Amino acid sequence: MRIGLEVHVALPTKTKLFCGCSTEGDEPNTAICPTCLGFPGSKPMLNEDALSASLRVAKALHCQINEITYFLRKVYFYPDLPKSYQITQLEGAVGHDGYVDLGRKRIRIRRVQLEEDPAKIIREEEYSLLDFNRSGIPLDEIVTEPDIETEDDLREFVSELRSILYYAGVDIDKEMKVDLNISLGNERVEVKNVTGIKNLIDAERFEVKRQSNLIASGQMIAKETRSYNSEMLSTVSSREKESDEEYGFIYEPDLSAYPTLKDSIPDTVIASSAARQLSSKYGINEVTLKELVMFDRNALRLIQHGLRCSKAGTVINAIELLKRHNGIMISDKGFEKMLSYMDNGMLLNEDAIKALLEDRDIGAEKNAVSAEEIDNAIRDIVSSRQDLVNEYKSNSKAFNFIVGMVLKKYKVSPKYISERLAEFLKDKA
Ligand SMILES: [Zn+2]
Repeated sequence: MRIGLEVHVALPTKTKLFCGCSTEGDEPNTAICPTCLGFPGSKPMLNEDALSASLRVAKALHCQINEITYFLRKVYFYPDLPKSYQITQLEGAVGHDGYVDLGRKRIRIRRVQLEEDPAKIIREEEYSLLDFNRSGIPLDEIVTEPDIETEDDLREFVSELRSILYYAGVDIDKEMKVDLNISLGNERVEVKNVTGIKNLIDAERFEVKRQSNLIASGQMIAKETRSYNSEMLSTVSSREKESDEEYGFIYEPDLSAYPTLKDSIPDTVIASSAARQLSSKYGINEVTLKELVMFDRNALRLIQHGLRCSKAGTVINAIELLKRHNGIMISDKGFEKMLSYMDNGMLLNEDAIKALLEDRDIGAEKNAVSAEEIDNAIRDIVSSRQDLVNEYKSNSKAFNFIVGMVLKKYKVSPKYISERLAEFLKDKA
């Protein structure tokens, strides 16, 4: 099986790609002007922010970047495109011949191109509506080579790409729209406009099964475009497949060629490779690290900072603790303080973490207690309340009651107390 993807993501700009209209229009057809409505005589002006964002993405995907980039008109008629062409790129695209490293294999990137989104079609029973707020929103189209061979490849690639986009400053909350090119035999089937990872996997599974069944029964697989129906969990034939050669392309005469200033494009941190490096240098579990940093640049920065002054285990525990308190926005100084408490075997309760987050002193002693103190408290209760100890196996309330007694005295994590108590009671059994 070979799968290639065409991924579309909206770039984070305040205004549209070729006009000054807002990208955040709310009421339909309010963020519009003659340019994004495609009126004759209107003239596009390139949004430099969109170009910069696209170049950042292309560089993060290890693409080759030409000295200049330019645009084409892709001519076709469709109601969402009243000027009868979409301004896009092909040769002359922002980047080409890059790759995404999955560690065990590479997925090659054929091209990263900048283009305008068409208007949105809202289909009603007997008529269709058009919303031009979306017309002209800057999109990055990321085209891969057909290097994805398994479902795991597909999942991992999408997650890796999302992480790279996040670190390149592209909003990953907005949905990625993906065209999936799948071939099991000789012909390539394109499944258009799949959104969300679950739908992507479901569409892939359906299409693999459909094509396998056709091959098994000796039938031909038709080269075609299909669309995915998430309610039916199936793909249906939509129209004859046009290849790029079948579209009319002409140079966009209203726009010039733009210098890419490729030496000044900022680098993007690749979180997964940073995690791989830290994992081998400090012996931290790679999966744990990836989970912490793939979509959290603050966590990565803090871990890198913390490893310079503390033990790896403490740093990871501290980050996990902060994430549980939604408190990854801690100052470097606060984080150092936190690590030194934890390195000294102190347990920090909610008030202590709150104080550290606000750069205050952690205050009353009870906010940071040593593991020893907790153990002593548990030991005291276990030896004085034999009645509860006898009961704990048949009655979970007895167990929770002891946890509650410790918690009343020391407001540290109930999970930690439970773990320690279970350890104590294990010896009693
Ligand atoms: Zn406009």
